[in-house]
Amino acid sequence: MDSFANQNGRVVIENVIAAVRDNAALLSEIDGAVGDGDHGVNMAKGFGRALEKIGTPPVSLSEGMAVIGSVLLTEIGGAMGPLYGALFRAMSRACKDSPRVDAAVFESMLRKAEEAVVALGNAKVGDKTMLDTLAPAVQAFADCRRLGLSFAGALSVMMKAAEEGKESTRDLVARVGRSSRLGERSRGTLDAGAVSCWLILTAMGRAMMDLLSR
Ligand code: ADP
Ligand code: MG
Repeated sequence: MDSFANQNGRVVIENVIAAVRDNAALLSEIDGAVGDGDHGVNMAKGFGRALEKIGTPPVSLSEGMAVIGSVLLTEIGGAMGPLYGALFRAMSRACKDSPRVDAAVFESMLRKAEEAVVALGNAKVGDKTMLDTLAPAVQAFADCRRLGLSFAGALSVMMKAAEEGKESTRDLVARVGRSSRLGERSRGTLDAGAVSCWLILTAMGRAMMDLLSR
């Protein structure tokens, strides 16, 4: 199939939350190299809290993303609470009126997510942030759609682009956020936000591919 029901989106939400929580130690370790080491702890707290709020009732993709977004925005500090809060809220809004999520809907979710992060954080590609993962992933997905690839095909290309984007941050000097204070010394390690963004997009993509294959 080339779409899935928004109301079956719980599996996407759970997969994203699990990916963040399972990698909390890794994310904090990476943030510790050039930042203050709180990224994984903050993220695990926020996503864990969102899971508690969601509870057991059925939850659609748009509802689940709205909960994650508002919890991160209101309860989690650091640079990433507000940035990921805005990202998930934008994604939620972009699909809330769509009973089925197809590639066109997901492309608009990705575009709105990127716009929200840029509007709030004002970072550019190359600044060594989450945007170095997000922007090429969004671009790759959109390019695949233009070329006529299936939804699942576009998702797998998106995940590859997210991974390459994440890896690109290793050689970059941080120009925004806490790690920018280190200047040249920020070169040589991955950016924590770029890694979490890759984990999130990969978890999202895999769960969606699973829904599409049912
Ligand atoms: P803090 O820097 O306040 O400790 P976190 O550790 O939660 O915040 O998040 C750090 C991450 O935030 C960085 O790795 C980077 O990817 C991301 N980041 C920081 N500032 C921005 C920004 N202006 N735009 C996009 N991402 C940013
Ligand atoms: Mg930090």
